[in-house]
Amino acid sequence: MVSRIIPVETFDLVVFGGTGDLAKRKILPALFKRFCFGQVPDGSKVVGAARGELSTLDYRSLVAQALREYGGEMAQDSEKVSAFCEHVDYVAVDARGESGWTELADVLSPDVVRAFYFSVGPGVYSDLAQGLQRHGLVADDTRIVVEKPFGHDLETAQALNRELAQFFNESQIYRIDHYLGKETVQNLMAVRFGNMLFEPLWNAQYIDHIQITVAETVGVAGRGGYYEKSGAMRDMVQNHLMQLLCLIAMEPPAQFEPDAVRDEKLKVIRALDSVQPHHIVRGQYTAADGEMSYREDVDNPRSKTESFVALKCLVNNWRWAGTPFYLRTGKRLSARDSEITVVFKDTPHSIFGPEAGQHRNELSIQLQPNEGITLNVTIKEPGPGGMRLINVPLDMSFAEALGPKLEGTSDAYERLIMDVIRGNQTLFMRDDEVEAAWAWTDPIIQGWEARGDVPKPYDAFGNGPDDADVMMRRDGREWRGLDK
Ligand code: NAP
Repeated sequence: MVSRIIPVETFDLVVFGGTGDLAKRKILPALFKRFCFGQVPDGSKVVGAARGELSTLDYRSLVAQALREYGGEMAQDSEKVSAFCEHVDYVAVDARGESGWTELADVLSPDVVRAFYFSVGPGVYSDLAQGLQRHGLVADDTRIVVEKPFGHDLETAQALNRELAQFFNESQIYRIDHYLGKETVQNLMAVRFGNMLFEPLWNAQYIDHIQITVAETVGVAGRGGYYEKSGAMRDMVQNHLMQLLCLIAMEPPAQFEPDAVRDEKLKVIRALDSVQPHHIVRGQYTAADGEMSYREDVDNPRSKTESFVALKCLVNNWRWAGTPFYLRTGKRLSARDSEITVVFKDTPHSIFGPEAGQHRNELSIQLQPNEGITLNVTIKEPGPGGMRLINVPLDMSFAEALGPKLEGTSDAYERLIMDVIRGNQTLFMRDDEVEAAWAWTDPIIQGWEARGDVPKPYDAFGNGPDDADVMMRRDGREWRGLDK
């Protein structure tokens, strides 16, 4: 049995930046896959828009090529690809100029859901918003999808929010964070709020600490120009890790509805304590195995930008007082491994004595490379020799447990784009959330700049700087190993 596919309304989705990297690698393959599962109804259009002068046929070949490269197995079926391309159009539009808007208006249908995906550099967002309004392309229920980075700091994020608000209501703006579209991230909410088992224990009384890791093996080559101005704190912590922290720490919303969920996430960000300098470690990868160092990758021998950051966060409220959240993310680490681990406290008293050993329950939510949830529970080690305790996983790996039901389920971009078409903002960030996250992040970055802080070098394909381990050891804890 395949998962239930919910039909969507007919739509026109214009992808500004339709010839760019993100469109080719993520947006178009996501749309193609939803097409294969019947979620691009007849009459729907996917319109690529960029400055390049391409005919629709040229663009369809570009789309077909991108699908062959990034669209997985289904995209090797050329009939399916051709059928999808029948929905594809292209219009040359300069978001900053006057050309192309009338042609764009001509290809759009008046009575269908209309969405514009801003897959262009952030410097173009406000021109684009203005251009759409000026040329009469926006109706009350038209949606825009805005990619990261959403601002560079609080001031720029506020300015961007103000600019977009001149042309769109908040209910029309979908700020995308693809981490929130992952199946497991939503499962995290299902596990927390759909079971009686976990929620009573989900607090400082029973949870020792929480770790959130997003580790990558890749460096920043090819994105050096952008990354050097951003760093791990802006590129990953302010958005992705912060969002994950919010979902773990938030109070149960009254309903699974956009503003109810986003109100609770916002309260978490506002409850975050400011981070002490000795609770943060920054790092920069060095050269190894024929790979260049960070400084070589960004072509700046004196770069002070971090490619790794580890920090200890405290959420100042009743639920979490005394239970730290440790966040860690970095490039060129030993494994591609994203996971959240909730480490429960020791039992208050061991009836088995010290020789039996003691283990903690851990709930681990894996996001990458495979998605799944594992609960480690303590049992008796089988066999004679008395009571010895071991931890074994109660594995909720989706691939094994759900088998064919997973067929037809969507990846993050597929789900989020379909949510845009459905008009569901639950998994998108609201203006105040983004601003609150910057308000927390800015003083950390400003502190580094004021102190002239230089990130610690760390070995490529290792676990990050030793200081990150020292920070944990000071608290009598250790990082979970990165899964190879
Ligand atoms: P990219 O490869 O440089 O593509 C940029 C696209 O925008 C091209 O199609 C370009 O085509 C078009 N464009 C540029 N200026 C334009 C204008 N004035 N009017 C109309 N179209 C214009 O960039 P990208 O990597 O796809 O990234 C797009 C956005 O997504 C950025 O905001 C980026 O930060 C964000 N993002 C990207 C990734 C990723 O993995 N690539 C991940 C997360 C977020 P023409 O030059 O022909 O106009």
